[in-house]
Amino acid sequence: MAEGPVIAEREVDVLVIGAGPAGLGAATRLAELGVAPLVLDREPVPGGLPAQCEHPGFGLWAFRRLMVGREFAARLVERAGRAGVRIESETTVLEVTPERTVLAVSPSGLVRYRAQALLLATGCRERPRSTRLVPGPRPSGVFNTGVVQRLHTFLGLLPGWDVVIVGSDDISLVAARTLARAGCRIAAVVEERPYRQGYLANEWWSLRSLRIPLRLGHRVSRVLGDWRVRGVEVVPCDAEGRQTAESYEIPCDTVIFSGEFVPEATLVAQARIPSDPRTGGGPLVDQDFQTELPGIFACGNLVHAADPADYALADGERAALGVWRYLSSPPTGNERVQQVLPGTGVRAVVPQRLRWYGERLDPVTLAVRVEPAQRAVRLRAVVSGTRWGQAFAPAAKPHRSVYLRLRPEGPVDAPLTVEARGWPFA
Ligand SMILES: Cc1cc2nc3c(=O)[nH]c(=O)nc-3n(C[C@H](O)[C@H](O)[C@H](O)COP(=O)(O)OP(=O)(O)OC[C@H]3O[C@@H](n4cnc5c(N)ncnc54)[C@H](O)[C@@H]3O)c2cc1C
Repeated sequence: MAEGPVIAEREVDVLVIGAGPAGLGAATRLAELGVAPLVLDREPVPGGLPAQCEHPGFGLWAFRRLMVGREFAARLVERAGRAGVRIESETTVLEVTPERTVLAVSPSGLVRYRAQALLLATGCRERPRSTRLVPGPRPSGVFNTGVVQRLHTFLGLLPGWDVVIVGSDDISLVAARTLARAGCRIAAVVEERPYRQGYLANEWWSLRSLRIPLRLGHRVSRVLGDWRVRGVEVVPCDAEGRQTAESYEIPCDTVIFSGEFVPEATLVAQARIPSDPRTGGGPLVDQDFQTELPGIFACGNLVHAADPADYALADGERAALGVWRYLSSPPTGNERVQQVLPGTGVRAVVPQRLRWYGERLDPVTLAVRVEPAQRAVRLRAVVSGTRWGQAFAPAAKPHRSVYLRLRPEGPVDAPLTVEARGWPFA
C-alpha cells in the first residue's frame, strides 16, 4: 500500500488502465456505446508502445494504411478524444483490489477510484538480461529494445556505435534497421534458435538490404567488458541448445537483449487475479476478456504478449462489448464455464474459458501459441471429438499468435481442446 494521504476519491463507470491500442480501442468503443470511460496511463504521452515507434508497420487493419507507430498512436488518441474519452496521463496505478478500487498517483497526488468495471490494458515488457541468466560482468552498454527506442525517439540519442542485437523477432529486426540508419554499425543479430523468428520480408527489409549479418543457432554465452561492454562471447548451438563448435567473440560496445516479451502483470499478481503461466502470467480470461474476478477485464498484450498493435486494438474493441454487457446485465453466477485447453503442439490459448450465458454464443476468436515452431500448420478446435473450428497457417512460431475463429456449437461441460499439427522447423 502506498504511503501518503489520498487527496481525492472518485467514482467512475469504467476505469481503463493503459492508454495503448488495447485501452484506447476499448475506451473509444465504450464511449460510442454511451458509457463514460476514464483512461489512466503512467506515460506523459498517451498511445502506448506505438507512441515510441518511428518505423512503419502499424494501422493496416484499423486505418487501411501502413503508418509509423507515432502516427498510429496519435490517430488512436485523436479518435478517442472525438468520442469523448477522458485520458489522464502521468498517472501510475499502484494498487488494484478485487472490489475494483484503484489507487493511483499523479503529479497532483494520490487518488482512489471506485469503478463499476475495470479494464486492465497494461501491455507487456521485455525480459531483461538478468532474467535471461547471461553470465559475465555488469558493464554499461546493455539495453532492452524498448529503452533504446525511447532514447532514440524522444531524446534523439543512440545507445552506442557498435551493436549486437540478441533476438530475431520482427521487433529486433526493425530495431537493427532503425539503429543502422541512425549511424550505428550492427555487428550482428544473434539468434539462439536455428530459424529466424520474424517474417522473411522483414529480414530482407531490415537486415539484408543493409547487409546486417544474422547469425542463427548462436547463443550469447557471456557479456565482456569491465566498465563498458567490449564484446560478447557466442556459442554455435543446435536446436536443443547443445554446443556444436568453438565459442568466439564479437567485438561491440552495446548489447541489446530484444524480444522475449512477458505480460506487464504486476497489478494482476498484486490483486490476486488468477493467471495463466502458459502465457507468462497474463490473467485468465473468457471470450469477453473478463477475468475470474467479476467486473475486471483484461486485454491486449497483457493477455498475449507481444502480438501486433492491430490485434491489441481489436481485443480492446471486443472487450468493450463485454464490459458493456456486464454493466447492462451483471452476471447471475449461473453461467456455465467451459475450459479451453492447449492440446498437441500448442503451448497456450487465449481466451482460456468460454462463459455460456444461455444456449447460444457468438463466434469466438482464439489466439493460439504453438510449441514448437511449425510449418504448414493445421489448427483444430475440438470438443469431445467434434470439430468446432479450424485454421491453417503456412508457418507458426511460439512468440506470435495464430488466430482461429470458431462457432461454438452448444453449451457443454467437456473442455475445448486446440491442437496444432505441422512440420517442425529445421
Ligand atoms: C520495439 C517494438 C516495436 C514494435 N513494432 C510493431 C510494429 O511494427 N507493428 C505492430 O503492429 N506492432 C508492433 N509492436 C507491438 C505493439 O506495440 C503492441 O502490440 C501494442 O502496443 C500492444 O498494445 P497494448 O495496448 O496491449 O499495450 P501497450 O501499447 O504496451 O500499452 C500499455 C500501456 O499501459 C501503460 N501502463 C502499464 N502499467 C501501468 C500502470 N501501472 N499504471 C498506468 N499505466 C500503465 C503503459 O504506460 C502503456 O502506455 C512493437 C512493440 C515493440 C516493443
